[in-house]
Amino acid sequence: KNSVQSQIGSIISSLDGFKSQRSQQDSVLSAEMRALTDRIASLENESMELRLNLARQQESATKDTLTELPNREAYNQRVRQLLDSWLSGASNERRDEDRSLCLAVADVDFFKNINDSYGHLAGDKVLKIIARELVSRLREKDFIGRYGGEEFVIIMPDTRPADAEHVLNKLRLAIAAIPFHFKERQIQITLSFGVVEAIRTDSPESLFERADKALYNAKENGRNRVHRDR
Ligand code: GH3
Ligand code: MG
Ligand code: MG
Repeated sequence: KNSVQSQIGSIISSLDGFKSQRSQQDSVLSAEMRALTDRIASLENESMELRLNLARQQESATKDTLTELPNREAYNQRVRQLLDSWLSGASNERRDEDRSLCLAVADVDFFKNINDSYGHLAGDKVLKIIARELVSRLREKDFIGRYGGEEFVIIMPDTRPADAEHVLNKLRLAIAAIPFHFKERQIQITLSFGVVEAIRTDSPESLFERADKALYNAKENGRNRVHRDR
């Protein structure tokens, strides 16, 4: 009986030993688990911040800081995308005038004079106001970008060229009617526009080149006008 009791005693004490070892291991494991969970949470935070940063940087790389319009890089991306999708649609469907893609290039008339007479900051303010006017008067689906300097580009999807010309003329008159005041003088600011319709053989470059040529014609013919290339 004694020997059985002492054996049971030793079994119990080794079971106790085992249990306390297990509970020690468990608490080590759960501490490790907590540390891992914390680490994962902090990595998730870090990656969210990185993604946000990336999105911010992508936006600033395609946005003009003065006017807050999409910049030339953004225009290059968009015109390629819109022209590609128009070309693939245009080849399937019968010729549909309503689905024309138009590109306009606009340039402020005698802008150098504004800088020279009223200072660069006045010029900057003019560009900002023009940008705001362009955005507020065009449709949501039109793309408006600052191509550079005092030049803007407007892509108008699903627009007949005659309608584009009409809309741009209204826009032109609205901008010409804005009362700019510098050095206590009221100044009229005008823009010239060149507008063309995309054709099946166009690349972004050839499309822009024709719009730019149309703009040149608008300038040659006296400025403050829309020239549509037919
Ligand atoms: P035109 O009617 O033939 O277009 O004449 P213009 O004076 O508008 O054309 P020009 O190309 O001679 O001058 C453009 C001016 O635009 C010169 C340049 O200093 C000015 N410019 C370009 N970018 C900016 C800008 O961000 N801010 C200001 N204030 N001026 C700018
Ligand atoms: Mg210019
Ligand atoms: Mg100009």
